Amino acid sequence: MAHGKAGSAKSNVQNLMSNLQPPMSNLYEPIIGLEVHVELNTNSKMFCSCSADYFGKTPNTHTCPVCLGLLGALPLINKKALESCIKVGLALGCKVSNTSRFERKNYFYPDLPKGYQISQYRWPLCVGGKMEVTDKNGNTNSIRINRVHQEEDTGKMSHIGSVTRIDFNRSGVPLVEIVTEPDFRDTDEIRDYAKKLQQIMRYLGVSNADMEKGDMRLEANISVRTSRSHRTRYDSVGGRSELPPYRVELKNINSFRFMVAAVEYEIKRQTEALEKGERLIQETRGWDENKKQTYVQRVKEEANDYRYFPDPDLPQFDIDNEWVSTLKKELPELPEEKTARFVAQYGISESNAKILTDTKELADYFEEAARVGVEHDIDVKKIANTLINKKFDQEKILPANLIKILKEETDKPVLSDEELEKAVRDSIKENPKVAEDYKKGKETVLQFLVGQVMAKTKGLADPKKATKKLIDFLQGNR
Ligand SMILES: [Zn+2]
Repeated sequence: MAHGKAGSAKSNVQNLMSNLQPPMSNLYEPIIGLEVHVELNTNSKMFCSCSADYFGKTPNTHTCPVCLGLLGALPLINKKALESCIKVGLALGCKVSNTSRFERKNYFYPDLPKGYQISQYRWPLCVGGKMEVTDKNGNTNSIRINRVHQEEDTGKMSHIGSVTRIDFNRSGVPLVEIVTEPDFRDTDEIRDYAKKLQQIMRYLGVSNADMEKGDMRLEANISVRTSRSHRTRYDSVGGRSELPPYRVELKNINSFRFMVAAVEYEIKRQTEALEKGERLIQETRGWDENKKQTYVQRVKEEANDYRYFPDPDLPQFDIDNEWVSTLKKELPELPEEKTARFVAQYGISESNAKILTDTKELADYFEEAARVGVEHDIDVKKIANTLINKKFDQEKILPANLIKILKEETDKPVLSDEELEKAVRDSIKENPKVAEDYKKGKETVLQFLVGQVMAKTKGLADPKKATKKLIDFLQGNR
């Protein structure tokens, strides 16, 4: 008895200990921020009149003294690009600044002919937005967007053997950079954010946001800190002291899948290092898809290493409210609003509405088909399901023709089970020799009998159903 008591006392202590110490996997939590670069689809480049449509073009044919960084060449701001950037900011719920200006971000790299990149640091076009994302547990969390700013792209280097070539066609193409606060806690949130961002870019029509072509590029900043249960998601607002003293930047990753794999790898690597008591350092890492691991690219410079200063060739400019409200009016209905409207207006489920609003083209197609469908008494849910199940090639069939097909299907007389059974029975009765052959094991004759059933039902029977019924009857199950 006494022994048993001592045992239970011990287990109470163990319980107490395990309550005090969270399991190892919960001791650390990742802190992740994203920087996304989106290349705008404007006709001309950011600061010159060269064509920005460079993909697949002969290298160094879309260039001029401005985007080659020749001495004395003066930049001129592409207003269309600013409008696209402001639209992105508005779509993400940002505040558009009253005044903005460009700065020079100085660093030396062969793909940067001027020795600096024209970017924005202290006076971004848009600040302070947010986006709702879903985490791995299915919870919705808000990711704060720090800024949306305008900058220019660099040239593109390609390494062939020991030779490196530079193509300046991309140099000066307008880029929008969207920077979040370090609010991501898992890769499901990252995936959701990136997909939604891509969708918004396409809805706005400001970029194709194609990752394989480099229209959209993701960079992640990751660090790991000890987690305390009382911490809230946003406690970093209180000051940088809450953030770890280092961060690892993941760069040059060109697919959602690789980014997710790289972030997962980093969370694991950093957590294990901290568990061993190692010190982590500020560095830039890339992803090796063959080895499925990240590798060091360089030790990171701090922001002040770039010696940002206002570009003297590009004076500060004001953004008047009227211009912003005009751009606001030009915004299309965005995916989230459209999804909510589809649910309310057409009575379809939210998950179906999400599929139908995946692209603006599909959503428009659905609405046009629904409009024509009403005139022909076709249920809108039937249209939705047809589109969701991709029963036909949407690119080849116009919405009106889709309704015609659905109408024919609806009008087609339905064959009852009794009618099918009668046709099956008659086909067997009228062909006793064939039926006998089947019973002797000659299964190929079944096709002949199915043909008979199809003829008797004027093609209304479902061949699979007819086959099954025939076998049932022939085997004497009926
Ligand atoms: Zn140019």
